[in-house]
Amino acid sequence: MKICVAIRESSTSDAVDAACRALAWADLVELRGDYIRDLDLPRLLADKPGPVIFTLRSRSEGGEFDGSERGRLETLLEAAQLGADYVDVEFSSFWKPVLEAVPRERVILSYHNFERVPPDLPSVIDSMAASGAGIVKVAARANRLSDNLEIAAALRRGTESNIRLCALAMGRAGIASRVLGPLWGSWMTYACLPGGAPTADGQIPADELVDSYRIRSIGESTAVYGVAGRPLEHSLSPRVHNAAFAARGMDAVYLPLECDDMDDLLRFEAQVPLQGISVTIPYKEEAHARARSLSVEADQTGAVNTYVRSGTGWHGENTDVDGFLRPLRRRLHLAGMRALVLGAGGAARAIVFALRSQGALTSVAARNADRARDLAARFGAEGHAWAEIPHLDWDLLVNTTPVGMHPRVEDSPVPAEWLKGKWVYDLVYNPKQTRLLQLAAKKGISAISGAEMFLGQAIKQQQLWCGSLPPDNAMRDALESALGK
Ligand code: NAP
Repeated sequence: MKICVAIRESSTSDAVDAACRALAWADLVELRGDYIRDLDLPRLLADKPGPVIFTLRSRSEGGEFDGSERGRLETLLEAAQLGADYVDVEFSSFWKPVLEAVPRERVILSYHNFERVPPDLPSVIDSMAASGAGIVKVAARANRLSDNLEIAAALRRGTESNIRLCALAMGRAGIASRVLGPLWGSWMTYACLPGGAPTADGQIPADELVDSYRIRSIGESTAVYGVAGRPLEHSLSPRVHNAAFAARGMDAVYLPLECDDMDDLLRFEAQVPLQGISVTIPYKEEAHARARSLSVEADQTGAVNTYVRSGTGWHGENTDVDGFLRPLRRRLHLAGMRALVLGAGGAARAIVFALRSQGALTSVAARNADRARDLAARFGAEGHAWAEIPHLDWDLLVNTTPVGMHPRVEDSPVPAEWLKGKWVYDLVYNPKQTRLLQLAAKKGISAISGAEMFLGQAIKQQQLWCGSLPPDNAMRDALESALGK
């Protein structure tokens, strides 16, 4: 298994520096000559710190090179002569003269499809392999999670036919292929330089691939977990759960599984068995409807954020309830307390259920007053219009609206004048110190960050999946570091 970091720098000297840094995680680097404005091949290759692939992508193949095709061919051949370990040439261009001039084991013949994984992928790969190139590379956009299965099937065929194949799915939905691809038989997987720009959609920074996903130790016996939702671009769950599995010393990996719907997820899961699944927006209700059995919390809230494997199928849990209560249990006694919940969406249901389960006298206020009243009525709470908030008395205020979330960090759901209780709990966790919590702290009101709930619900998921509490310091550190970034 090889990790290749694709280098996207605009000067020769920066590309050499970046290549040196990349080799802390990678086995080889891909020097993207098309990004380098002052391309000095002799210097670039004389100073190469390790094995390199050189390529000069044209615009039609997703690159920046806009010179002549003859010039592109000459530059590739010169790079091979100057010692590039591999040259990558596209199947859609002049690969024949490259194969005539460069030893075939040093030629990567590549195919890119930025729209989809084509239905004729196997025959494309067969035609590419028939060229005699030493390595065949295919990168095609995944539009749904199950598109990864086409990549897995292609890799299995490649292994059976002794084709040295690198195959991956681009895009957020294709991340599984970047992490599990080597296990499925891919000769190599691509990553981007930590802190650098990716050269393709869905590339994971090399440090994350190695240190968080622990790709070098993934094997047949590795248990696969993941979070299902859409979009998952900003999900912190992979960081936190991978840290927990590493701290447990468990052979397990946790992936972002960006899917089209639950059917898409379950199609993927039928071929890539998952040991546990986190479910997030917008699939919590659908996951509830499809679970074989439900916990009381999942049943009562109508939402599932965790699937646990049972003998008969997926058992649905809602760990948002426990995650929300965990930081409160340490600080206060909820029975008889007056709690006011802002917002009446999906998260509010878990919060109102949690508060009522502990005997808190609960009110809900939302800009859609009917929604607030409906939600409140379901759990024996009181519903109010947003304008009533200044007239309501509360000990604990809980924000379940997304107001204040990155990037609109200056927003607060309510002004400082409306804050007059003892505790404010904001479910928003990015940033950790929201504007609302800052306003509360200025008035001497105790503040609880949504980061604590996020951690709490993930700890409960770990407990449900593994049967024991995880070392939560590792999870906390991973969360702090991800939020810090
Ligand atoms: P949701 O289902 O979309 O509900 C959002 C609620 O906020 C709705 O009632 C919505 O009102 C209301 N709202 C939105 N913008 C508003 C505004 N400008 N002023 C007043 N009300 C507004 O979302 P959700 O799933 O409940 O999630 C809500 C937030 O909680 C998100 O930021 C999410 O990241 C966070 N969360 C955190 C954790 C954690 O572990 N810390 C867990 C779950 C959720 P309308 O119905 O009128 O649009």
